[in-house]
Amino acid sequence: MTHGSLEVIVGSMFSGKSEELIRRAKRAVIARRAVQVFKPLLDDRYGVEVVRSHDGDSFVAVPVRTSSEIPPRLAPETTVVAIDEVQFFDAGIVEVCRALVAGGRRVVCAGLDLDFRGEPFGPVPALLALAERVDKLQAICVQCGEPGTRTQRIVDGVPADYDDPIIVIGAQEAYEARCRAHHQVPRRAKAAV
Ligand code: ADP
Repeated sequence: MTHGSLEVIVGSMFSGKSEELIRRAKRAVIARRAVQVFKPLLDDRYGVEVVRSHDGDSFVAVPVRTSSEIPPRLAPETTVVAIDEVQFFDAGIVEVCRALVAGGRRVVCAGLDLDFRGEPFGPVPALLALAERVDKLQAICVQCGEPGTRTQRIVDGVPADYDDPIIVIGAQEAYEARCRAHHQVPRRAKAAV
């Protein structure tokens, strides 16, 4: 086996992270490497057996509930491991990636560097620090057309509050790419009780 390495692809939503992960996976197949792609099971927006970019490109993927499910699902011949939506994994994903790399595998992770509040997201900062290669992609801000680096959360047509729960029952929810200047995270005063 060759030396292992860790590549991390980050950016806001719509910055092209899944596109880039799929591109690297497809190129590894062309190079006749055995490739496996994993994704967290909670992300079932497009069905459970593929990763799919917003542009429609896709690659077969293994959905897993926790980071500890990845090593047992790894085929012995796999030399390239790609993990999409890596921000949703538990902290154990860092050690899983480190062990895969130590075993000589090429590991490619893609995920949000920042949450909707604009704060570092879960295990991603640690993965960025450990990576041999980091690519920070930019979307287009839907407000001004400048590079979009942040993910705007909209609940019922207005910017989500800093303290809004992650799941708002019955609400219409959407996400947009925005630049730093147009990213809004209000802290509305709570009604007095
Ligand atoms: P990510 O995984 O980072 O959310 P995807 O790879 O799924 O991104 O999708 C990237 C694609 O999304 C772009 O190639 C483009 O076709 C589309 N897209 C839609 N809205 C935007 C936007 N505001 N900025 C850039 N790309 C966008």
